[in-house]
This record gives sequence, structure tokens and C-alpha cells, in this order.
Amino acid sequence: MPPTTFYPTSSSETREEIQSGVQKGATRDPLEALEQHFDHRKFLEGQERVVSAILTGKDTMAVMPTGGGKSLCYQLPALVMDGVAIIVSPLIALMKDQVDGLTAKGIAATMINSTLTPAEQRERMLELSEGKYKIVYIAPERFRQQAFVEALRTVDVSLFAVDEAHCLSQWGHDFRPDYLRLGQAVKMLGHPQVAAFTATATPIVRKDIVDTLELRDPFISISGFERPNLSFTITQCEKKRQKFDRLAKIVREHKKGIVYCSTRKRVEEVADTLHSQGVRVIGYHGGLDDKMREIAQNRFISKEVDVAVATNAFGMGIDRPDVRFVVHFDIPGSIEAYYQEAGRAGRDGEAAVCELLFNYADTRTQEFFIEGNNPSLATIHAVYEAVRRHADSNGDCRMTLREMADEANLPNDMGVSSAVSSLGRLGYVRRFDVPGSRMRGTRILRPELEATDLEIDAEAIEEKDRRDREKLKAMIELCYAEECRQEWILGYFGEEEAQPCGNCDNCLNDRSSDLRKPESDQEKLIVQKALSGVARMSRKTNRGYEGRFGRSKIAGMLVGSRSQDVLNARLDELSTYGLLKDCGQAYVLNLLRELHARGLLEQSTGEYPLLTLTPRGVEAMKGGANYKLAWPALMLPSTKRTSSSKGSVEMPESLEGMEFDEELFEALREKRNELAKVEGVPAYVIFSNQTLEFFARLKPTSEEAARKIRGVGEVKAERYLGEFLPVIQNAAE
Ligand code: ADP
Ligand code: ZN
Repeated sequence: MPPTTFYPTSSSETREEIQSGVQKGATRDPLEALEQHFDHRKFLEGQERVVSAILTGKDTMAVMPTGGGKSLCYQLPALVMDGVAIIVSPLIALMKDQVDGLTAKGIAATMINSTLTPAEQRERMLELSEGKYKIVYIAPERFRQQAFVEALRTVDVSLFAVDEAHCLSQWGHDFRPDYLRLGQAVKMLGHPQVAAFTATATPIVRKDIVDTLELRDPFISISGFERPNLSFTITQCEKKRQKFDRLAKIVREHKKGIVYCSTRKRVEEVADTLHSQGVRVIGYHGGLDDKMREIAQNRFISKEVDVAVATNAFGMGIDRPDVRFVVHFDIPGSIEAYYQEAGRAGRDGEAAVCELLFNYADTRTQEFFIEGNNPSLATIHAVYEAVRRHADSNGDCRMTLREMADEANLPNDMGVSSAVSSLGRLGYVRRFDVPGSRMRGTRILRPELEATDLEIDAEAIEEKDRRDREKLKAMIELCYAEECRQEWILGYFGEEEAQPCGNCDNCLNDRSSDLRKPESDQEKLIVQKALSGVARMSRKTNRGYEGRFGRSKIAGMLVGSRSQDVLNARLDELSTYGLLKDCGQAYVLNLLRELHARGLLEQSTGEYPLLTLTPRGVEAMKGGANYKLAWPALMLPSTKRTSSSKGSVEMPESLEGMEFDEELFEALREKRNELAKVEGVPAYVIFSNQTLEFFARLKPTSEEAARKIRGVGEVKAERYLGEFLPVIQNAAE
């Protein structure tokens, strides 16, 4: 088969990039390689653009959830590109599986890790430089040896891929110092093309990856975190009683699930309560010994019991697909933790619910954890001195953590445990098992050092504390957010194109289901024009703006109304007069109402409320786009001018002027009720009355036109338009 040149399908790449892809030796169709080598017919979400980016020669960072198909994103390019792809991967067991799998597919792959003898390693290197392999997995600790990296320089490296790249960030949950060396290795290898992969990367971690690996103008892809089968709800609970009521209802309704609590005590309390209600339940937390934990976990996995009540220690290894609910009885410490835990619901792809029972007072527990996890320099010093004072001549100290806390004058042993861990990481102490006892001792490794001699990066300690607090703050923000929960979370993880899920509490609560940022410059401009109209009709003082007119007069001025009201006030002489003529009065009135609701405008109280700009409104007027609106339903002016094609909706001057087809409205309602019955949901969940009214007036007959109507989000469009459009088409005939 003659090789075919591969061109990326995405149009955003420049010609140079395509060229460099060709030069890089990307000479086969990836889809063909996908079929031939991996026996898959399609790419999974996000895979194609990552593969394309790598094949165009770009440094790349891909963030995909576990199971999202990351390995293929480097394996496939590795086959297509000239040379050997180096894959850095931390888990030796996993490495072997991967290599065996590839070899079984007839792909020349191998690995280098500590299981090889030096002779074998030399042999492997030789084979690599002879080009015998397309893919080599390398364990990160190999890069400790300068000589190893030197030897690698004889190899023609096509791609340097780093799996589990978050391990190089101290702010990730899985920091591995060996990963920090990878940046140096990349440099020594003459900066081959680099691709980094991870399943968990917040903005900070992503930045660390880009910086450490020195990615050059990287293509960054974040995909696949969406969980459309999960419905997220955050319920404000003033009293513990409310939490228990809510929990009982969820357990009754959804039966199989996990309840996460923040403390051991809470786990026991909740498990006891459920048990007394006749629910078959296990409790699970770090205070149980290994054996008990294993038994509890197995009873849940084997489906002997249906409900697990647990701290965050639970779940690392569990993979029960039929979990129908995850309840957070207390607020977790970060969005990362929350989404990971909630994500254990609905692994089988069937619908599942995630509910957080939120009480602001619970955030105190998380703050307490943060304090414990980030002991101050003074605490670390005090603990060190306590251990040193009580060490025997070998440097061994047999105090429990509790005793150390007392000795160091600390209120609890949580900070002590973290302090000992930090001292351990820095090489000043080592923990050891005390023979014939369950306790662990602490050995001072350099007894000659006093606390003040220790080299401890106080700034890093503070920084970590600050970041932990920021994570908690984001979690609290989510609890108060009015927009789609899923979209908010995906935005937090960096997925920029996320859409409202149509399925969370905020989406189902009509008010906020359609909040979104301006989608085009045109929308942004309309808002800017409306705001500058308000500014022109306000009084500017040195403290900001003061309102002088009400909403309808401002709208009249903006659409260029000839009404007496407007003309008498000589508003037709303003430079902003008629600026939004094309939008129509109804649109502008709605827009002003919405700008007020979103805090860009403010209204005075009293009989004649006067409208003016808030500081946020001023910012938006100047071009800032950091706001979200439920955009009014009517089409943008461009739609009016350009849309003559069948099925599009003409831009009406005002909604009131549009004929309301009552018969159609009734038909649509009937359709809606029918669907609601089938799906077992309240009717308004499908489409609100307002949306049906828009349908009945605007009569969109194409999906494209219908999608522009307020209340028709991505999810609802997919799910329901197929049902409603025929009804509208019928009425149009
Ligand atoms: P990750 O490393 O992201 O956790 P893997 O690379 O192990 O995920 O892939 C998860 C699963 O998805 C594997 O079983 C793999 O064979 C499968 N997979 C990967 N890409 C595709 C594809 N394009 N089509 C179908 N299955 C795929
Ligand atoms: Zn939502």
C-alpha cells in the first residue's frame, strides 16, 4: 500500500504546521492506522485532535479522564512518525501490560525499567539506536542517571511522551520528584517533540507541566470530563435534620450508592442512622484496620450491601458500575475531590444522581484539615525538637503522634503527622516499625542538626496552604453558583466549550438554564451598545453613574422610537439614538432586564425605578466579556439579513407582533406532557411554557433555527427537537 500523506482535519492549523507535520514524517492516514493496528473504527472524544496536533509536530498537552483513551494518543503517532517514541510512565506493572498488548498487535514495543539487568539494558539501548522499535516505555527513575540520558542521545527520538504528567507538579496529588528531572532530560535530548498526558490537571498543574517540560507554544486539549448521565444537585441545608431527611429520601428512591462524609465520626453517625432505618450499609474510614476495611469494601463491591458510608479514603480501588447515587453529606475540600467522588456514580452510563448537602458551617472542618495538612514552620520545628529530645543514642524515638503533640505543645496530632511526613520527605527523619508492637517509631537521621539548622522552604509551605484554601474557596463558590453545575465544573478544569447540561438543579430550575457568555463579537457589541445607551442616559458623577430614566424610555431611545415620550425628552438627539434599531423593542427590553438581573445594571428603588450602570457594567461597556446572560430569545440582526433559507426564523421586530398560534401551542403542550410521562419527569423539565410559546410564535422548522430559541440548550436539542419539530412542521403546512 503506498503511503498517503496525512493532513489534519481541524482547520485551525496553519499551513506551516501542516508542512512540519509532513517533514516530521507523518506519512500515513491516522484513521487507517487506527483500524489497521488498533482495530478501532472511530476516535474517541478528543483523541483525533490530539493525534492531529502531535502529527503536525506540535508540543501537546492532553487532559482526558481515566479510561478516555490516552495511550492511543501517543501510540498511534508513534507508529506513523519516523524514529522511536519514548513513553515515560510511572507504573511498571502497567508498562508491561502495555508492551505486551502492543506486541500482540504486531507493534515493535519494549520497555526499560529496574526489572532489567544492566546487560539487558545495554542490549536494549543498542536495539533502540538501530531502530528496532517504534515505542519504548521508560520508568522515570531511569532519568536519574546522566549516563542513561547520554546513551539515549544515540537514539532517533520521534516523540517524548510523558504519561501521568501531573506527577511533576508539587501541587498535584501524586508528586514524584523523578518527574522533575524530565525537563532536564528533554533538554539534553535536544528538545524532541514533547507530549504530556494526564487525567487530572487544574490550571496550576497544567502550568507546571508546560513550564517543567518547556513545552513550546503547546496545543492543549482538555476533553471528555463531561458526564451527561449524572445530574448534579447542591441542596442548602440549615439543619442536620434536613440532611438526614434528604438522605433518607435519596436512599429510598435510588437505593444503591455512596455517602461521603468528612470525618470518621460523621461516617459512624450516618451509617448508624441509615442502619436504624433498615438500610443495609457499611461504614468505611481510615480509622478501621486494613482487614476491616477490606471486608467492608468487598461487601459493597460484591453487592451484598447497597450503601457505603465513607470518608474520602474510600473509592480508590472500587469500581462498582451500578452506583445510582453519590451523596456528599459534608462539603469536600476541593472541586477535584468532589468531582472525582461524585464521578463514581453511574459508571455504567445509566442515569445517576449526585447531591451535595451544603451547610456553610461545614467548611470549618475543611479549614481545620488544611491547617493540619500544612503545618507552619514553627510547628515543624517544635515537632522536630520534641522527637530529638526524646531520641535514644541511635536517634530512635518511640513517641506516638499524640505524645509528640503534647510534647510540642500542639492542640492535636493532625499537624504532627503532616510535620513528620514533611521531615521524612526532606530526609531528616525516617519512620520505622517497632518490633513486637503496632506502633511506629521515628528515627532522627542527622541528630547533630538543631531545628533551626534544617533547610525547609517556608515559602513553599505557605504557598501550598494558600492553594489549598483557594481550592476550598472554589468549592464554596460552586455551592452558590447559579449556572449549570456541570458546566461550571468543566470550566474549572479548563474545558472551555462546555455547554449547560440541562440536567442539574440549576439547569432544571428554569431561571439559569440558558446563562452563557457572548458567543460572537456581534452579541458582545449589542451589549456594549445597550450599556452605552444607559450611560448616555445617566448622570456621571465622580462616584460612578446615577440613573435618570427608566427601562422603557432607555429601550425606546435605543431602538429609535418616535413616541412622544422619547421625542419630548429629546432623546432622539443622543448619539446612541437608534443604535439597536435592528433588534426590536422587545429584545432590547428583555436585554435590559437581563443585564439588570446579572448585575451589569442597577435600578433605583421607588415608584419610577431608574436604571444605570454598575462597575461591572462599565467594564462590559468597555469591551470586557466576563459575564453570562440568559440571552433574549429573538434572533440577531444578521439572521434577519442573511436568512432566506428554508426553515430559518425571520427576525421579528418584536415578539408581541408575532402571531401566536394557539392551536400549535396546545399541540406542543400535549407532546410535552406525553414525553414527560414517558420519562417520568415534570413537564417543565422538558421545555418551559415560555419556550413552547416561542415555538408557537416563531415556528422554527429546522433544528438549526430551533436551537437559537431560548430554553433550547445542547442537551435538550439533542433529546427533544426530533419530537417537537414535526409538530411545528405539521402546523406550518
Ligand atoms: P487511559 O489511559 O486514558 O485511562 P486507555 O488508553 O487505557 O485509557 O484506554 C481505555 C480503553 O479505551 C482501552 O480499553 C482502549 O482499548 C479503549 N480505546 C481507546 N481508544 C479507542 C477507540 N478509538 N475506540 C474504541 N476503544 C478505544
Ligand atoms: Zn446543568
